[in-house]
Amino acid sequence: MFDKILIANRGEIACRVAATAARLGIRTVAVYSDADAHAKHVAVCDEAVHVGGAAARDSYLRVEKIIEAALATGAQAIHPGYGFLSENEAFAAACKRAGLVFIGPPVEAIHAMGSKSAAKSLMEDAAVPLVPGYHGERQEPDFLQARADEIGYPVLLKASAGGGGKGMRVVERSEDFRASLASCQREAASSFGDDRVLVEKYLTRPRHIEIQVFADTHGHCVYLFERDCSVQRRHQKVLEEAPAPGMTEARRRAMGEAACNAARAVGYVGAGTVEFIVNQDGSFYFMEMNTRLQVEHPVTEMITGLDLVEWQLRVAAGEPLPLAQDALRMRGHALEARIYAENPDNNFLPSTGTLTALRTPTAVNFQVGGSSAPAAVRIDAGVREGDTISPFYDPMIAKLIVWGQDRDEALARMRQALAQYRVVGVATNIAFLGRLVASVPFAAADLDTGLIERHRDTLFPAKTPAPATALALAVAAQLARETVSARRKYQDSADQHSPWQAATGWRLNADYCRTLSFDQGDVRHDVVLSSGATGSTLTVGGETLPFAYRHDTGAYKITLGDRRAQGHVHFAHDTAHVFVDGQEWPLAWHDPLAQAGAAEGGEGRLTAPMPGKVIAVLAQAGAKVEKGAPLLVMEAMKMEHTINAPADGEIEEILFAVGDQVPEGAQLLAFKR
Ligand code: ADP
Repeated sequence: MFDKILIANRGEIACRVAATAARLGIRTVAVYSDADAHAKHVAVCDEAVHVGGAAARDSYLRVEKIIEAALATGAQAIHPGYGFLSENEAFAAACKRAGLVFIGPPVEAIHAMGSKSAAKSLMEDAAVPLVPGYHGERQEPDFLQARADEIGYPVLLKASAGGGGKGMRVVERSEDFRASLASCQREAASSFGDDRVLVEKYLTRPRHIEIQVFADTHGHCVYLFERDCSVQRRHQKVLEEAPAPGMTEARRRAMGEAACNAARAVGYVGAGTVEFIVNQDGSFYFMEMNTRLQVEHPVTEMITGLDLVEWQLRVAAGEPLPLAQDALRMRGHALEARIYAENPDNNFLPSTGTLTALRTPTAVNFQVGGSSAPAAVRIDAGVREGDTISPFYDPMIAKLIVWGQDRDEALARMRQALAQYRVVGVATNIAFLGRLVASVPFAAADLDTGLIERHRDTLFPAKTPAPATALALAVAAQLARETVSARRKYQDSADQHSPWQAATGWRLNADYCRTLSFDQGDVRHDVVLSSGATGSTLTVGGETLPFAYRHDTGAYKITLGDRRAQGHVHFAHDTAHVFVDGQEWPLAWHDPLAQAGAAEGGEGRLTAPMPGKVIAVLAQAGAKVEKGAPLLVMEAMKMEHTINAPADGEIEEILFAVGDQVPEGAQLLAFKR
């Protein structure tokens, strides 16, 4: 076995590989870019080497630099993870030349599977079933159209060198063929530097089922059962599970054997995945082989109880496969959800920013029937609270994987775990995933690749106004925030015994009544809080109800009339992110004092809303800031007031320093126009 390996990747997969290496006593070397100097994967490895700039081509894709790093640190092998250089034959060849073990298949196998067209020809020879289509060398438009006409519409055009869902076009009618071909070729040329395409029958309502295979250098090849990855958006996986619902033993064996035949046909070694497209009647066809560890490998680990990274390391070190086919068993059901920083309501556009709060469900390990069972909730993450999702890389936050004794149990656990996730600072797909796993077709395992599209209405519901409980939680958190701030002032103040410094809300001769306003998008919620000798009430949505709250081990507990609720609230940029009943309600606190100055930002300047003292300057001249970013903190009337950027812009100058007294209306800083 190796003593030391280099991990040529970042994020969750680099952390995942490092965890197994650490368990096996293998030292690890991380590589990192400028953007990742403080990343989790660097922290979890034993050593780290800086390999260049933030853009992947300046760092994680630099073949020579990474090989140099491995040689300089004495690593014997390189694990490429997935993405980046994992399916790059030049990289695998360069490792070999440098005397390093590439933890992956031989160069020839990567080459053979690198082109979808060439791979299909090989599979045809190995008697692996293919979707009817044309995958030859001829590329004249007339010729390709004639093939499409023969196959019958709809057909699918795919870039031969494609991947990641790019360069695919569905063509519904012969009349549309030419235009789709031209656009597919353009995308193929720009994405892969190769404009060749293939044509295949477009299956309606297919499932995506893939087989995990493993081969060693001693001539053994096994399959570790299947994963169903049918739930996709724009041909990209969203949820994965194992085993595939409805799979029969006979079909599992047939698909497993076909996958092993595919692997043997290219002299495969290591972990690989053979992807099949499957008709509702169960007939299956080879799509492609991914010559690396897949993102969704944990569901296979959960049902087999095996560590696939350990198998990869053993095979790469020349050991035989740890288990033979007939010794492999599966148990229970596993589901994986990919948690992304993206906005499902805006076409799943990636979202970037700092994870000001990242609270995960607790990982659960438990025992079943005396023997150890897989973890029931597993989280593979490459980021921690406080880390940044940058525009340079895949915006994945984590993979959430759950296990249950059957699919229903796994599903229930997944729903619960998603409801416990709390992420603030970026948009996420968590609520969308929650709706997806709770949807009728998914719960009933009525799966196919069009599930999300077909159920758009339920999966992308119209926004509803925040319920009274969410508003009451926001009020509770705002009051708690004010109490903490006032108490701090009180402790700092010279006359600690003065009743005028107390922060109890007590008022001389009067009941206390105030309106707290929160903006939910364009909707303003005004909540009236009244406190008197007999307690407090909240008036929400025209109804006045007795109100009480408690802040307990991170959660807020409220009583509102006869309802009790418990939730979490995280403030970011004066927005209360309220998490309750598995939903998130972002409610922007409308601070009447801060607004006075903020309104002027549009004119390129910001002025003090009241006389006070500058106690913190949070931005610098020249900085580009986003709307809502905190710029400066002032203290006035014994309270802190944060001055936020009223719009996106660039700061030209900051006119006051910490400790300065500022008169009301003074210009605090200037924005570039
Ligand atoms: P990529 O390598 O770009 O991910 P794949 O060939 O793996 O492309 O296909 C990705 C997805 O596209 C599949 O999971 C499936 O949803 C869909 N797809 C591929 N081929 C077909 C087909 N012939 N008919 C219907 N859908 C298909």
